[in-house]
Amino acid sequence: MLDEGRTVVLITHQIHSTEVGGGQTAARLAYDLASSNDPEIRRILDNVVLLDIPSLNPDGLQWVVEWYRRFVGTEYEGAPMPWLYHFYIGHDNNRDWYAFTQKETQLTVTKVHNAWHPQIVHDIHQMGGTGARIFFPPYIDPWEHNIDPALTTAVNQLGMYMAAVLTEQGKKGVVVAGQYDAFTPARAYQHYHAGARILSETASARIATPVDLPAERIHGGRGYDASKRSWNFPDPWPGGHWGLPDIVDYMESGAMALLSNAAKNRRYWLENFYHIGERAVTGWDTWPAAWVIPAGQANRTGLRYVLRILAMGDVEVRPARRAFTAGGRSFPAGSWVIPMRQPYASFAQTMLEVQHYPDLREYPGGPPRRPYDVTAHTLPFLMDVDAVPVDDSVDVELGEPIDPPAFDFRLPDALEGPDAPRVAVLKSWQEPMAAGWTRWVFDQYGLQYDTLHDADVRAGNLNDRYDVIVLQSQSATSIRDSYREGVLPPEYTGGLGERGVSALADFVRNGGRLVAIERAVDFAVDLFDLPVTNAVDRLPPQDFYIPGSILQVELDASDPLAAGRSETAVWYGRAGRAFDVSDPNIRVVARYGEGNPLLSGWVLGGEKIAGKAAEVEANVGKGSVVLFGFQPNYRGQTVATWPLLFSALIP
Ligand SMILES: [Zn+2]
Repeated sequence: MLDEGRTVVLITHQIHSTEVGGGQTAARLAYDLASSNDPEIRRILDNVVLLDIPSLNPDGLQWVVEWYRRFVGTEYEGAPMPWLYHFYIGHDNNRDWYAFTQKETQLTVTKVHNAWHPQIVHDIHQMGGTGARIFFPPYIDPWEHNIDPALTTAVNQLGMYMAAVLTEQGKKGVVVAGQYDAFTPARAYQHYHAGARILSETASARIATPVDLPAERIHGGRGYDASKRSWNFPDPWPGGHWGLPDIVDYMESGAMALLSNAAKNRRYWLENFYHIGERAVTGWDTWPAAWVIPAGQANRTGLRYVLRILAMGDVEVRPARRAFTAGGRSFPAGSWVIPMRQPYASFAQTMLEVQHYPDLREYPGGPPRRPYDVTAHTLPFLMDVDAVPVDDSVDVELGEPIDPPAFDFRLPDALEGPDAPRVAVLKSWQEPMAAGWTRWVFDQYGLQYDTLHDADVRAGNLNDRYDVIVLQSQSATSIRDSYREGVLPPEYTGGLGERGVSALADFVRNGGRLVAIERAVDFAVDLFDLPVTNAVDRLPPQDFYIPGSILQVELDASDPLAAGRSETAVWYGRAGRAFDVSDPNIRVVARYGEGNPLLSGWVLGGEKIAGKAAEVEANVGKGSVVLFGFQPNYRGQTVATWPLLFSALIP
């Protein structure tokens, strides 16, 4: 097998639609591979199976191209597109590699990854335009600890090889070992499936409009100084002209170098893949013998979601044929068993266990070193599901591995039918991704709601049409003012403006409910001068820092907003708030847990929010305002807190 096998390489282009070099590179790469008789290319063709996806978000690519072409040669050339380039989740479309919520992710995982098991995945991106010209791995720490060490070294050698080839070709400004870490599986499905993830990030122009960058405007990034030669940035780019042809040149050279490494080291890649699988099948010392997900759990939505993630992630999940005891605990027949001696056990382990993110600092005693993404993904907390690690072997007959079950989303009765509250969600011309994720959840549940653009709010008389308006996490300035005049054509600028803001105020005073989440809390607090302050506002990061973690929250179960719960795990990200409330007229629905509320991830200064209010309700005139300090819908995964979001829609 090793003698005959080919290295399987998957290249994915332009998941982020404004990073337009990727799609252009796909066409040129295919042409060169198909038409050249260069011996290096012949070697690639003989030794590599290449799966190439020219765009992971073709709808978004179309939007971006049409938007750009509309304004070429005008004052708005290269202007930002005023809506998310993935209909629901925008730039977060590469944060969906374990939740598998979107069609594009599902198709890529089931039809490409799980069908072909690539040993190398090259994910082509663009970054900001004022630093290095291209980034390749190594990634900086931390690497999530369930990833096989032989993938870390595989990524390191391949990234360094690509950097070496480009530098040898005279391409300046290649940086390695900066900026990007390898912690969250949300960006790296392949790291749990025996494949090396090679991210490349090429400097952007203004979409397809070239830029001229003087040397003094070039800045470094994390781990390098763009004006200085260093071990991981040995040939600084001096500045000058940079456009789409340069971007495509760098990207194609990177992809060719990757393919040539895959071809030359064909046997290494196959052996590496085999040995990673062999170690997983033998089991790691740090893994339990099995995980058991007990049957008969209360949260059906969460249960189905967890099983779906594991099964779609190519993990064997098998139902127990009868009741059994393991690890001193009894489980009913039909409980799901995940034996941890299987090829993709690391995926199950990272998704089910608690994350202990390392306490990394910029320097000893200094501020925290910012993670590239978030620090927790423990599904049992996010999805309100019980999953039990057991160390002794599970002695029960198991059925066949399950297929991924469908989502099981059921709307609360009060939100269905002719008497249901009339709900609207603001879709600003600066729509935050969280709002898109929330539209996705509402659509999955079949909730009837309207989408409000700024002009719809400015038109006023909102009470005639709505009972509840939702503002997802968006700063007060962005809600009020959105894009400044001159940045975009006038119909996309100006935000709600004074008229929109006062229409929203009237809406609440006349009996409407406003639901404001995270950053949008500041807008609602300002608007009604509410006696609520953010206890962690402007604290230095040494004293308080939560870069995306899961916390414990206590709820007042007698409050209808608590959806009958007395405690839950919640998602707390960088935009989280913790409220000091002095006025007894403000009802506290939820409080962060006492002591250190951390359940999974990383928290500095947890005591700063311990016991502080996490969700409150204030009456204003005939209406009310509900403020969420945490994100009740984090990336479509927080099944545990969706009931709180839905309760907030029922005034
Ligand atoms: Zn990108």
